[in-house]
Amino acid sequence: MLTLEKYKTKATRHDCPSCGQKFVFTRYVDDAGEYIADDVGRCNRESKCGYHRTTKEHFADNPTERAERASRPAYPRAVSRPKPEAKPFDTIPRTYLEQSLTGYDRNGFAQFLLTRFDAAAVSQAVARYLIGTDGGRCVYWQVDGQGRIRTGKLISYDPTTGKRRKDTNPNWSHAELKKRGALPESFELAQCFFGEHLLKAEPSAPDAIVEAEKTALIASLIFPEFVWLAC
Ligand SMILES: [Zn+2]
Repeated sequence: MLTLEKYKTKATRHDCPSCGQKFVFTRYVDDAGEYIADDVGRCNRESKCGYHRTTKEHFADNPTERAERASRPAYPRAVSRPKPEAKPFDTIPRTYLEQSLTGYDRNGFAQFLLTRFDAAAVSQAVARYLIGTDGGRCVYWQVDGQGRIRTGKLISYDPTTGKRRKDTNPNWSHAELKKRGALPESFELAQCFFGEHLLKAEPSAPDAIVEAEKTALIASLIFPEFVWLAC
């Protein structure tokens, strides 16, 4: 059977061959999990792009391929090759995230949101997305579906305009913790989406991917029925 590949990690979402966006394209796979051609799939930007090439269309254009696929030896499931070991990576202890879930009066982004949205909605969105504060900077934690904290992005915002402050550079939590000696020099980073923890927590909500964490959070205030992710 040919189906759209199930979401596992970011790596299962590809660049759209039509609109070129990254991590939005779901490809068709066969029973063995092998991809059909790289333009066969569906872009999740349904309204902006709408690209969808079905396996039926693909095989109509490539009539010999279906027969070739069928004649391939069946995938040896019983003695399947061992899965390649997932690359090991390190995570940040949860206490750093918990310590950051405060100080929103000093968080320029949270303050900006309060000038545009209802306070209850802002505090709900901030809690849902685990927005933190670190020395006045906004922390966008990257937490995966298993609650593992991969890193956090630290950005300073002007509370009036909601724009990034030009006088400070964004940084990463894992990099700062390493510098302080709180994480080992050997820390192996593996990023995930900002908002990825919600895919597990709210499995029935449709998801949408944007480029910036700030956009994801603002979008979540306007369309809370979606899980907004940023990469
Ligand atoms: Zn597209």
